[in-house]
Amino acid sequence: MAETSPHAHPRLLLLASKLGYQTRSFVEAAKRLGVDVIIGSDRCHQLDDPWADGAVSLHFEQPEQAAERLAEVVRTTPVRAILALGDRQTATAAYAARILGLGYNSPESVSNCRSKLRQREALRDAGLPVPEFFSFLLKEPLDAVLSRVSFPSVVKPLRLAASQGVIRANDASEFAAAVDRIRRLLSSPEVQTTREPELDRLLVERYIPGAEVALEGLLVQGRLRTLALFDKPDPLEGPYFEESIYVTPSRLPGEMQTRILDCAAHTVRALGLSEGPLHAEFRVNDAGPWVLEAAPRPIGGLCSRALRFGPSRISLEELLVRSVMGLGGGEMPRELVAAGVMMIPVPRSGVFEVVEGVGRAEATPGVDEVQITARLHDVITAWPEGSSYLGFIFARGETPAQVEAALRSAHDALRFTIAPRLPVTHPVSGQTLGGS
Ligand code: ADP
Repeated sequence: MAETSPHAHPRLLLLASKLGYQTRSFVEAAKRLGVDVIIGSDRCHQLDDPWADGAVSLHFEQPEQAAERLAEVVRTTPVRAILALGDRQTATAAYAARILGLGYNSPESVSNCRSKLRQREALRDAGLPVPEFFSFLLKEPLDAVLSRVSFPSVVKPLRLAASQGVIRANDASEFAAAVDRIRRLLSSPEVQTTREPELDRLLVERYIPGAEVALEGLLVQGRLRTLALFDKPDPLEGPYFEESIYVTPSRLPGEMQTRILDCAAHTVRALGLSEGPLHAEFRVNDAGPWVLEAAPRPIGGLCSRALRFGPSRISLEELLVRSVMGLGGGEMPRELVAAGVMMIPVPRSGVFEVVEGVGRAEATPGVDEVQITARLHDVITAWPEGSSYLGFIFARGETPAQVEAALRSAHDALRFTIAPRLPVTHPVSGQTLGGS
């Protein structure tokens, strides 16, 4: 539980689900800055390490109740700012900020971002370039749905992230197979335990061809500052959309970059977002930029390690803590070198048995770090059902092309052994479980 006595240091409320690297990095940055952190999490039972002054156990799927509980806990210990690290915590952060009078995005704006359907509607209504779309209930007859689809299309759940369950379909039979596959994913225990709403509905969009970019940004009183624009140099043409390489600065022509930043600013305004971190994705083709999605949270996983700011190369986490706490330094620019990250793809589902070549990958010129985050002997799942990478490779260099080449050769040095998962027959029911 959080302390309830008055406190000398300024306080930050940090809402997080995963208590991994990213949360730790925020807590460490806060400590360096003399800021005390209170973590609100639905994983308090995993908090075996006292990183913070206190932790509050919350149910993010009931954001208004979670916000009230949070406000009650910090009633006598004023906090200065609030940050949500993932999509699931943004609604709680918005309601809590409203109760506590903190600068944050409004509940309406974050709910515009939580559902992919709602976001599409808000952006279309504001005249932003989004693909044609419609949604349908999984219980609707497929023939009626198919009569509305223009191919190539992309079909996706409304509430998952990291491209989980996002599938391209080029014709009716691919579409039917994709819907079946997503239906199975959504009824799996892993997804059902999230208790997310709208798991009975899918979104269908026109497939947008073109290059893809990701924008990492920071909002202060409604003004968007771009921290980095990343190219994604591997073609993301489906049928599944597992990410791989991110490299910044972008190699797109300056004029196109300006159009993307403009489109990002309009997107933020249309959604009503105003404060804190922003991660947004766009496709770019002859028609200009198209909005794929915007989320009021920082880039996920370990990817933020690709970003450093100012003369002492502070982390993205420190930059964000400085900015929301009003400590100065939030305006520091990214370092001048090119930088990138590869999210190491999962080639197939199975049991992750062995990784070789990490030393060689780390020794690749330009490579800063190789982190294998999947655990040995664990089952790993490829996309579209999966959502976690094998690990991350980070590189820096003079040019984006050098960074990309370093990431690719480090990846070539790695060898992963993924054994098939053997099916097991249940001793009582005789049902076959597992297998891949
Ligand atoms: P998530 O939030 O799970 O990442 P997105 O809707 O952003 O889901 O989709 C994930 C990825 O799938 C995108 O980054 C993009 O590569 C691809 N994608 C999604 N929708 C489209 C579309 N309409 N056209 C082309 N590619 C798409």
